[in-house]
Amino acid sequence: MRLSKSLSLEASLTESHAVRQNVPNAKVLIVDRDPKIVESLCAVVEEAGYPTTGAVTGTQALAKIKSDGCQIVILDRELPEIDGLVLCAAIRAARVLPGYVYIILRSSGDSEKDVLVGLQAGADDYVSKQTPVSQLIARLTTAQRILALEQNLRTSLEEKTRWAMTDSLTGVRNRRCFDLELKRELKIARRYGGDLSLIVIDVDYFKGVNDQHGHAVGDEVLEAIARRLEGLLPRDTDWLARLGGEEFGVVLPQTRLRGAAKVAESIRAGVEARPFATQVGLLPIKVSLGVSGTQQVQPRERDVEELLRRADACLYRSKRDGRNRVTVDDGGI
Ligand code: GH3
Ligand code: MG
Ligand code: MG
Repeated sequence: MRLSKSLSLEASLTESHAVRQNVPNAKVLIVDRDPKIVESLCAVVEEAGYPTTGAVTGTQALAKIKSDGCQIVILDRELPEIDGLVLCAAIRAARVLPGYVYIILRSSGDSEKDVLVGLQAGADDYVSKQTPVSQLIARLTTAQRILALEQNLRTSLEEKTRWAMTDSLTGVRNRRCFDLELKRELKIARRYGGDLSLIVIDVDYFKGVNDQHGHAVGDEVLEAIARRLEGLLPRDTDWLARLGGEEFGVVLPQTRLRGAAKVAESIRAGVEARPFATQVGLLPIKVSLGVSGTQQVQPRERDVEELLRRADACLYRSKRDGRNRVTVDDGGI
C-alpha cells in the first residue's frame, strides 16, 4: 500500500516535472535607470536561455509588461519617475495581465527593513545589487518553476471550467451553462435594451430511434443533430445548448419574435431536409419547436424560468398539433 502510494507520488512528480519542461522560458524584463546595466544584465540573462527586454523608467516598464507579455521582472528599486516599490504595487493591481508576473526587486539597500518593505509591496524575491550574477540566474530558475506551476494550475482550472459547462455527448453548452449564460444575456438586454428570443427544440419520436436501433445509434443522432443545429444559426452571437435528453435550446440575442420565428422555421426545415448518417444507415429526423421572447414578457418577469416556461408551453402545442412544426408565443400563454 505504502509502496504503491509512493510510486504514484513519484509518477505524479515526474509527470508535473515533464509538464513544466514543456513551458518555455518566460520573457524577462530588466528595469534599471542605468541603460548600461540594463544592457549588461540582458546579455547574461539571455546567455542563461531567457528572452529579454529592457526599460529605464517605470512607465516604460509597465507598458512593456502589458505589450510584450514579460512574466519575470528584475526591477531596480531606485527608479526615477515611478519608484520601484510603487511599480511593484501597480503590477500587482493590474487586472488585464495574461498571467502572473514574478518580480525580483534589486536594491542597493539590503537591511531587514528594506527587504520587508520590498516584499510587502508585492515583490516575490529581493536581491542586493551586490548579489553575484550566478545567484541571480539561480533565482530566475526558481521564478520559472513558480510560473510553470501557476500556468499548469491555470490551464487545468480552465479545462475543468470548460468541462463543467460542456455537454459531454455533443460538445455544446450544457444546461448549467445555458442557465448562467442566458441569465447574463438577459442582464445585458435589460441594461442596453433590445429583445432576446429563445427557441426550444425537441426531437420527435426519439424514443423510437433508441428502441429500433439501440442507444448508441440514438447518441450518434444526438451528436449529428447538434452539429446540424449549429450550422443553422444565422448569427455568430446566437448560441446552442443541450437542455437534457433530446431537447436543445437556442438563444438569439438582439432578436425579436418575428425574426426568431423565421430562424425556428429554418431549423425545422433544415433538420427535415436531409436524413442523418448513422452506423445503421440514413435516419430521417424531425423536430418540434417552441419560441418565446422578452417581447411578450413584462420587464420584471424577464428571467430564465419564465422564458423557458413559455417556450416549453409553445413546444407542447407543437407536439399536440401534430409535431414537426413551430409555435411562437402569441402572448396567450
Ligand atoms: P415526442 O415526439 O413526444 O418528443 O416523443 P419522444 O419519443 O421523443 O419523447 P420521449 O420523452 O418519450 O423520449 C425521449 C427519449 O430520449 C427517451 C430517452 O431514452 C431518450 N434519451 C434521453 N437522453 C438520451 C441520450 O443521451 N442518449 C440517447 N440515446 N437517448 C436519450
Ligand atoms: Mg422528443
Ligand atoms: Mg423530450
